[in-house]
Amino acid sequence: MIDKLQQCIEKKRVNNSHSREIIYKILCESTECLSVAEILDLAADEYPKKISLNTVYRHLRFLIECELIFMIQDDLKKAYYCLYRDEVDIFEICPKCNKVKKIEINICDAMKTSEFITLHKKCQKCK
Ligand SMILES: [Zn+2]
Repeated sequence: MIDKLQQCIEKKRVNNSHSREIIYKILCESTECLSVAEILDLAADEYPKKISLNTVYRHLRFLIECELIFMIQDDLKKAYYCLYRDEVDIFEICPKCNKVKKIEINICDAMKTSEFITLHKKCQKCK
């Protein structure tokens, strides 16, 4: 996982950044899509210094440019970040609390040409 990040860093000729690595690692390990607030929370456990909001956005933009992660937005335009995987990603978004969750279901071939699919469905908590 970190290899892919390293390749992109070399290609783009940017400096290594420990905080960028942490953010990428957090997204690699998460099965759910994370908001910036959630990423910051998780990073606080792993990184001794406080990562500023600007830095997080900068790193996320970089990871998106590298096509390592992508962003989806809920109905309120709140952004969630997810790791890119080879298969089509399918998400459930709760219309009540807007929590985005990655799910695994079979999809028909017609849907496979999409980069990702979002379903609107109430989450466990809101049912
Ligand atoms: Zn909900």
